[in-house]
Amino acid sequence: MNDAITQLIELQEVDHMRGDLASRVKGLEAQKEQLRHKAQLERSTVDKLQEHVETLKHNSRMMNLEVDKLDDQIREYQNQLDNGIISFKEMEALRTKIGNQKARIGEMEDEALHLMDEIEETTQRHAREVEKLAAYEVDLESEIGKIDEHIGQLQQEIKEWEKKREDIVAALPRHVIQQYEHLHARFADPVVPIENGTCAGCKLTVSGTTIERARDGMEIVTCENCSRILYAQ
Ligand SMILES: [Zn+2]
Repeated sequence: MNDAITQLIELQEVDHMRGDLASRVKGLEAQKEQLRHKAQLERSTVDKLQEHVETLKHNSRMMNLEVDKLDDQIREYQNQLDNGIISFKEMEALRTKIGNQKARIGEMEDEALHLMDEIEETTQRHAREVEKLAAYEVDLESEIGKIDEHIGQLQQEIKEWEKKREDIVAALPRHVIQQYEHLHARFADPVVPIENGTCAGCKLTVSGTTIERARDGMEIVTCENCSRILYAQ
């Protein structure tokens, strides 16, 4: 077989290796991205829980203020009842108001108790989630560290294949390399054997002359149809 062909086949194998390694690196990068995205979601869930606790606390403060306000009003009404010179009708109206306010306070105190329970429960849940998240992030970092290590190894391998590629390229005539690169941009397999009289790339029949020239191995022969470089097996 033609020396150049032997080297082109080797070059193609090297390119396959590089391609495989590069796609494995890409897969690992995507895996890392996915892990980071998941962590982001976990963090935002915990943040939302924290926001929820803040909202509940705010509501509780507002409710206490409201109760204080109602309390002040009752005191004011009571004061008017005790000291004011007012009609019986006005006194009745004030007593009704006081009764209503007290009932409202009673309701609000019940609500406030429920709210306190909810704050307590949500705060505890948040604390548990924070703890879980911290543990998860430790695991995540170690997972990402392992992936990075793996990527590093693959990149080292890619470098070695690139060195091998440079050596092959340096040994081949420039126009042959150009022809190969041109085909490689279109096909994953720019160099193919002739199988049963057909090009193994495009599967079309190759002329008898081309087969003979490929067998002679004196020159680089290409497929009349797809232009792939052909060799006789
Ligand atoms: Zn072909």
